[in-house]
Amino acid sequence: MLNIVIFGAPGSGKGTQSELIAKRYGLKHVSTGELLRAEIKAETELGKIADSFISHGNLVPDEIMIEMLEDLIKKNLDQKGFIFDGFPRTLPQSMALDEKLGKNGSGIATVISLEVGEEELIERLLKRGKISGRSDDNRQTIEFRLQVYYQQTEPVKEYYAKQNKLTYIQGKGSIDDIFKSIEEAINNLTDG
Ligand code: ATP
Ligand code: MG
Repeated sequence: MLNIVIFGAPGSGKGTQSELIAKRYGLKHVSTGELLRAEIKAETELGKIADSFISHGNLVPDEIMIEMLEDLIKKNLDQKGFIFDGFPRTLPQSMALDEKLGKNGSGIATVISLEVGEEELIERLLKRGKISGRSDDNRQTIEFRLQVYYQQTEPVKEYYAKQNKLTYIQGKGSIDDIFKSIEEAINNLTDG
């Protein structure tokens, strides 16, 4: 399998680039944010719990997220690989991901970290909020989500840096140019 993690702050463009990566390499796109929003929309038990965290800009507890991930991996073992978007967001999630993939004789090939400055992130999220209808795309929640990102999620980078798996990509620029840099990084990897 070819498994890739796309990493970055809220608004860094993970979703947009993941779709392009999934298409180019035939990978299964796993967006935990989208999965959770679907649960909220369907008003499931999980959706109700998730909403109480997401609408305030908090992370959904690890226990719930890790169970969701486990389930997804189990159901998609016939795929060429995964592009994980929005997971892992904490160190326990990173360790769980390594463990679950390892159990299936696989692992993470690389973690693509989209680097975007804070001002640009806020600007993009406010703009998205006007059309997304997302409960967490308003100024107050955006600022809180960024704090949560810097405190709880950014340390995940160090975890992968130690494994020599971190690839930094400049996340400011055109969607095409950013994708080209990502493609180059992935091709370098698979060419050996
Ligand atoms: P981007 O704009 O780069 O796609 P995002 O942070 O705006 O990123 P999502 O990845 O869609 O959006 O996540 C939305 C919310 O869902 C998060 O703020 C969090 O509350 C919850 N969530 C998603 N994935 C996880 C996870 N792995 N662990 C905990 N909570 C999660
Ligand atoms: Mg997203």
